[in-house]
Amino acid sequence: MSQGYGKSHASVKVWFWRAERFLHTRMRELRAIAKALVSTKHPFLVHIIPTRRCNLACTYCNEFDDFSQPVAVEEMKNRLDLLADMGTSIITISGGEPLLHPELDEIIRHIRRRGMIAGMITNGFLLTEERIEQLNQAGLEHLQISIDNTMPDDVSKKSLKTLDQKLNLLAKHAYFQVNINSVLGSGVKDPEDALKIAHRAVALGLTSTVGIIHDHDGQLKPLGPREIEIFEEIMTLSKRSFSRFNEFQHNVARGKEHNWRCRSGSRYLYICEDGLVHWCSQQRGYPGISLAQYTPEMRRREYSTKKFCAPRCTVSCVQQVGILDNWRDPQNLKPLPMVPPPATPQAELVQIGHVRSDS
Ligand code: SF4
Ligand code: SF4
Repeated sequence: MSQGYGKSHASVKVWFWRAERFLHTRMRELRAIAKALVSTKHPFLVHIIPTRRCNLACTYCNEFDDFSQPVAVEEMKNRLDLLADMGTSIITISGGEPLLHPELDEIIRHIRRRGMIAGMITNGFLLTEERIEQLNQAGLEHLQISIDNTMPDDVSKKSLKTLDQKLNLLAKHAYFQVNINSVLGSGVKDPEDALKIAHRAVALGLTSTVGIIHDHDGQLKPLGPREIEIFEEIMTLSKRSFSRFNEFQHNVARGKEHNWRCRSGSRYLYICEDGLVHWCSQQRGYPGISLAQYTPEMRRREYSTKKFCAPRCTVSCVQQVGILDNWRDPQNLKPLPMVPPPATPQAELVQIGHVRSDS
């Protein structure tokens, strides 16, 4: 067999498995949306944290440390079982850096065994051809990498220069869907970088989205005229992304407050490494209850609780989940007082501020 034939045979094989996984996942996503429209009683999307540790240290990030141990795989499986029993549709593994977890593939397998859709947010630095193949075999369905600039700098090493080779590997070998998120807004030195990153992603056959980051005080500030143009162009490029339907991103870009109903604690859950339920990565501490003790009544209460941080929220994944229910069930309850957190360094409360670029 010639080398050329071998190569083209390998790309046909990847194309076939990618198409097969895409169609299978898309069907399950559509079923999950239909189920969520019929019933409001189950979580639609859950972020879980198998390790808080990260191999990078982006200066804007409040979601990592450099010392935490990975959560034991049996404990992760227990948490996934609880979430599956609640009827959860999609699990996104986040961190820290999830690829640092030694049994990540078993966590992904367990998500799939329990019938949930498996996604992951990673900085991509630890990806190799072999690691991508292992993730294919584990059954991963979505992967997102956030790229902050074209050249690494003091703020972030997640640059196109450092990650381009990883994007190439993903384009060649991944069966799962890969989205590249670029960023605009406060602290971004050159907004043209976002456009270069988005075009590179699309040229490789990957999808592309854009996130907007704000000052440390969490204030909404409008993007400048050129940034708005770039933002709109990237949103147009995001043809296969759910986020383009999301009116909130357009409001955030223009510095406008957004009128929506945040259903965190109910339709969206953030489960930290200690197994506690939080509204989201930026409001850790509410409600701060162990997942094992989180009852349907508590989820129901959070569904109807008005979140004080909603008008200026920049957490796009929770906003996307909100679309399912924004049209129904006005929220008229006030948040309950916070449960005091366990006295560990990881469990410090985090209030909304500078949102990590891939939230
Ligand atoms: S943004 Fe991601 S890669 Fe950067 S320090 Fe935070 S968790 Fe690590
Ligand atoms: S910051 Fe956003 S996602 Fe988090 S609880 Fe507030 S409104 Fe919801």
